[in-house]
Amino acid sequence: MSKPTPEVYEQGKGMDAHNQVMREIRSRKEASYDPHEPTRVWLDEDNTPTGVKNSLTIILNTGGCRWARAGGCTMCGYVAESVDGGSVSHEALMNQIDVCLEHESENADEPAELIKIYTSGSFLDEREVDAESRRAIAETFADRERIVLESLPDFVDREKIGDFTQYGIDTDIAIGLETATDRVRHDCVNKYFDFADFEDACAEAATADAEAGDDADAGIKAYLLMKPPFLTESEAVEDMIASIERCADVDGCHTVSMNPCNVQRYTMVDELYFNDGYRPPWLWSVAHVLEETADIDAIVVSDPVGHGSDRGPHNCQECDDLVQKAIKDFGLRQDPTVFEQVSCECELTWETVMERERSFNQPLTR
Ligand code: SF4
Ligand SMILES: [Zn+2]
Repeated sequence: MSKPTPEVYEQGKGMDAHNQVMREIRSRKEASYDPHEPTRVWLDEDNTPTGVKNSLTIILNTGGCRWARAGGCTMCGYVAESVDGGSVSHEALMNQIDVCLEHESENADEPAELIKIYTSGSFLDEREVDAESRRAIAETFADRERIVLESLPDFVDREKIGDFTQYGIDTDIAIGLETATDRVRHDCVNKYFDFADFEDACAEAATADAEAGDDADAGIKAYLLMKPPFLTESEAVEDMIASIERCADVDGCHTVSMNPCNVQRYTMVDELYFNDGYRPPWLWSVAHVLEETADIDAIVVSDPVGHGSDRGPHNCQECDDLVQKAIKDFGLRQDPTVFEQVSCECELTWETVMERERSFNQPLTR
């Protein structure tokens, strides 16, 4: 069994009780992964400030998030995909990139314009991806138009972004902010940083953008968590609308990605779900938030993972695919009329949940 332990960096951050529970839950998993293989790689398309692009999405296996080793976020089971020992060599990281490039050349007609690299942690944390690997990866993708790199806000700085923009690659940093409300981020998600840290990271990106001049753009993509544990459906919706509005107001943040919570193994959310204390959000809630925020000054997208299943965002099963399709269409076209074409009897149940669910009786429905 692996034993997650907090290191000095993480001590004193987050809620002790949450961290203790999460450490215990995570220690139950037993898995190890080959550091020469990426966790996952696939081709898809995504909306960017310069239009919809073909994209190569890579989940690099970097040894996992240091915050997860301290206990970490209540909904996140991604550390189960990382490597024992906690660090991956330069050579192994570059092997992973080669595997991804091979996957692309075998499955796509031409190289993707957009590259997205997630690490289940922070690409810009040099304990996960050292400076040498970061620069070599920038060079590898120098001929692409745009790159998205996942990072916690603490590790975002203008020089690291400059490693990419110097090649003329438009660079976005994807930050798992989860919510703009510090209380919800700390107490429900157990994520240790504040909205102010997110604003600082946006300022770093804005500076990198100015330094890159006309050669390249740099900006922030905020990832928000729709329905963290302990919130009712209506509280989650209200918090999400407010969060999207606050993010869009921050200079440097041009895109918001709303991720409906799904129940991952080895998490506190999984324990709550198992004990009838958590239901993932309704897809109606996701659609409602997108409609309500359609006219704000940022791109808002959502790609619900595991939609229609009991452990993922869902409605009544009958309408899940239809509503999911409308949500994805909205992401590409930003046109709220896509939701006018979907309706289902279960909307009434959702409206009742929005009205009647309280923290003491949640979840009101399955
Ligand atoms: S959500 Fe991100 S910060 Fe939180 S434990 Fe998972 S990988 Fe780490
Ligand atoms: Zn339905």
